Amino acid sequence: MPLLDKFSSFLEERKQLLSVKPDIFGTKIEKMYSATEASIDGHKVLLAGTNNYLGLTFNKECLDAAHKAIDEEGTGTTGSRMANGNYSSHRELEKDLADLYHCNHCIVFSTGYQANLGTISGLAGTGDVLLIDAHCHASIYDGCKLSGAEIIRFRHNDPDDLSKRLNRLGDRAKSSLVIVEGIYSMLGDTAPLKEFVECKKQHNSYLMIDEAHSLGVLGDTGQGLVEVADVGKDVDFITGTFSKSLGSIGGYCASNHSQLDAIRYMSRPYIFTASPSPSNIASARAALVLLKEGKHLRENLWKQSNRLYAHLQNLGFKLGPEPGPVIAAQLETPEEALHIWTTLLKKGLYVNLIFPPASPQNMPLLRISISAAHDDKQMDFICNVFTELMNEK
Ligand code: PMP
Repeated sequence: MPLLDKFSSFLEERKQLLSVKPDIFGTKIEKMYSATEASIDGHKVLLAGTNNYLGLTFNKECLDAAHKAIDEEGTGTTGSRMANGNYSSHRELEKDLADLYHCNHCIVFSTGYQANLGTISGLAGTGDVLLIDAHCHASIYDGCKLSGAEIIRFRHNDPDDLSKRLNRLGDRAKSSLVIVEGIYSMLGDTAPLKEFVECKKQHNSYLMIDEAHSLGVLGDTGQGLVEVADVGKDVDFITGTFSKSLGSIGGYCASNHSQLDAIRYMSRPYIFTASPSPSNIASARAALVLLKEGKHLRENLWKQSNRLYAHLQNLGFKLGPEPGPVIAAQLETPEEALHIWTTLLKKGLYVNLIFPPASPQNMPLLRISISAAHDDKQMDFICNVFTELMNEK
């Protein structure tokens, strides 16, 4: 088949969706007013579809830190961590994150995507086995593929299924890595982490958790699920991102295994890309301080999340299994999802519209996400918009 012919059927399928305005695949934020308000298509909207869980993107301390770093260190590093892109601030942030997790080692990557790619493909190779939860994020899949290791998927949040598969590996379980997430990005549910820890211990395997959506959201000091489950010492590798609760760009892997540092010399996603800009690192460092001390932010985040989850449940929406800052309304057809999404936007509310394969179980989703910056009045608005939507049905 000629190279470009494969796009014809894909573009045909998308034509109908692309005719809808505003463009669902490229919603343009024309102006940001605050962590929760923006302008889209000439109208002011309330944002309930970001990953700004702590609402720190406009925080004064974070802004000041970023401005200072730009003035003192410039707009970009123009190089890899292995060459000219390794500034003192990158190392300091690694230390801050290691301290957060009471770990000895941490590596900062350029994005959360690359943290997963670089960690997984650095740790595992041909002959090793990667066991991943069926709902794991694309960056985890891609890291597994890049590694060349054997990939086994186990049923979502099912330690028994994992145990069965580790059993079948016999002695090879010793060269295996199990990968789960703290809060899952699409349905917002949490992993049964204690059970997974027991399982990996029983089989002498290793365990990695991606805390992308749980950093800052769970735990007294905001570590994530490892803190709530009290298994920080038993999880081998913790990855995460700066692009959600920390309101910046970048990613990390923290561990007590000294071998983590060896990844710096063999991980292509670490070596062959430029390091995060000084301002990204500076704002992430400032946000990390606020995150650790951010009990009050988490309290509001959970108060608002529980409220909206209960409200949508009462209205009859089919939701993910547990309340949390990621609330997924599962819909039957793409047309229904699209209709609801555009209606919400017209009413001044932005949420994420997710189609398979990005959503699990082949279902279109409205992914609604809450921020600690949402106040009671904004939550009244969000609840009212959904009530109106259901009354108009
Ligand atoms: N892990 C998970 C679970 C994610 O949802 C995401 C981003 N949505 C990433 C990693 C990648 O993070 P980043 O945006 O920093 O590349």
